[in-house]
Amino acid sequence: MNRRYRKTIIAGNWKMNKTLTETKAFAEEFKPILGRPKWCDIVLCVPAVNLHSAIRMFKDSRVSIGAETCHYEENGAFTGEVSAQMLKDIGVKYVIIGHSERRQYYNETDFTVNKKVISALNAGLRPIVCVGESLEQRELGVTMDLITYQVKCALANIPIEKVRHVVFAYEPIWAIGTGKTATAEEAQEVCEGIRTVIRKLYGARVARAVTIQYGGSMNAKNAAELLAQPDIDGGLIGGASLKPDQFMQIINAANQD
Ligand code: PEP
Repeated sequence: MNRRYRKTIIAGNWKMNKTLTETKAFAEEFKPILGRPKWCDIVLCVPAVNLHSAIRMFKDSRVSIGAETCHYEENGAFTGEVSAQMLKDIGVKYVIIGHSERRQYYNETDFTVNKKVISALNAGLRPIVCVGESLEQRELGVTMDLITYQVKCALANIPIEKVRHVVFAYEPIWAIGTGKTATAEEAQEVCEGIRTVIRKLYGARVARAVTIQYGGSMNAKNAAELLAQPDIDGGLIGGASLKPDQFMQIINAANQD
């Protein structure tokens, strides 16, 4: 973390978990233990059907609500889809774009990621752009080549004044939902690499203002060590964000004075 130049953001990704009733139960348990963390922003990305209610439930708290994807067009004949403008209009603040599960199961490509980032920024949402390599790619030694490509594609045609609103999440695919975490050194190396790509594209001032998260089996035990790395500015957390006490422990790790 480097709180001097950029915000630390702890974000939960609930994926396809929690009914409305379960979302209410989470809010009732989580809000009293949350308080007002000084050093980090907190985001919960919840299923589309529960966004509106979640915004109301967390209205008077430090929690911002995020969506898990959006369409890149403003409106039109795209049955079943939700646009960035629609999300913005109900009070959503963030949207995850290019999560590896969407890349794997829903044909998300680096080109659709770029269109969605543009659309999210135009609507006034902060995109959380996921990038990350598979185990095979890591073993072939092409991790940084791939990440560089993913970051460059995501940022294509994004004007310099909007780049600081983009959040990147480095999520090695082999670490998501597997219980395997990248070591703090591995995660730092890639997050630093992402910042270097941004610096080459937009300059040092912009690069140091961009929040770069790590995601992949982050939990109460490993969070402090990961967050102590200079280029890891928070986490995108799946499993451990579903339980208020576990999520809170990660927030506490980000919130040490
Ligand atoms: C994720 O889904 O973005 C994620 C990092 O999941 P988990 O924390 O469960 O590995």
